[in-house]
Amino acid sequence: MAEVSEQRLKLDQKVSIITGGSSGIGEATARLFAKHGALVVIADIEDEKGQEVAASIGSERCTYYHCDVADEQQVISAVNFTVATYGRLDIMFSNAGIVSPSTQTVLDLDLTQFDRLYAINARGTAACVKHAALAMVEKHVRGSIICTGSIAASRGGSSRTDYVMAKHAVLGLVRSASKQLGMHGIRVNCVSPSAVVTALSKRSPEATKKTMKVYGALSSLKGVELTVDRVAEAVLFLASESSSFITGLDLVVDGGLTKLPDEDD
Ligand code: NAD
Repeated sequence: MAEVSEQRLKLDQKVSIITGGSSGIGEATARLFAKHGALVVIADIEDEKGQEVAASIGSERCTYYHCDVADEQQVISAVNFTVATYGRLDIMFSNAGIVSPSTQTVLDLDLTQFDRLYAINARGTAACVKHAALAMVEKHVRGSIICTGSIAASRGGSSRTDYVMAKHAVLGLVRSASKQLGMHGIRVNCVSPSAVVTALSKRSPEATKKTMKVYGALSSLKGVELTVDRVAEAVLFLASESSSFITGLDLVVDGGLTKLPDEDD
């Protein structure tokens, strides 16, 4: 029985695209997917870093492709490149995301920053889901699409209004797409981590330190910190046959934090 489960967690020769795979959660997932037998295309704008990651995984398993998810044409190119290179697309991990450089409370919301963030985090995710699904439907692939959400989508936030709104949008997309694509055998799920140290969080180290401390205290799993590898394991589960009857799920990876009362309550 254990052998059967292990086999279903494997991604043997499954073809995947990971947006935002040059660092953080995406990089960890690219490494884990490759270890489980997948062929991985890292789609990112950080070319040098992405090429380094792809080279360290090995060219027989991983390729880098420049793709700004805010530009639909570049998303189409990345999907076309993947299908032309490997013959099909089985897994899309739509994970690329940014945070705005300022606090973005409602009172100081910078709408230019808002537009930039939305173009990547929400509209970019929609473009990835759309074009991955089109490629899967065309080739009759019963694929798996996973988007990176955030616990921000279930809690709101004391700042970063643009980010919180975009992550709500991602969840709405996952819930709708899972209903619409089920008839094609395509599953669509969300992985929603709490705070994890990555390049993204390091852009505001003080705030991250504070958040990690608060989240650590609120987590039900005392003494355990969320790492990118732990998030990647959740993504692997949703990408694999082990989750073959799961779609429309928001898989929250937060040590039980959102199950507890809010710290403001
Ligand atoms: P990260 O900065 O390490 O990785 C983000 C990646 O996305 C980078 O490689 C970056 O180059 C890429 N990227 C940015 N803009 C892009 C664009 N326009 N097109 C293509 N790629 C682009 O950060 P991370 O923490 O690994 O973030 C990954 C995802 O996880 C994001 O969606 C983020 O919102 C989400 N998330 C992060 C945390 C956290 O605490 N770090 C918590 C919850 C959710």
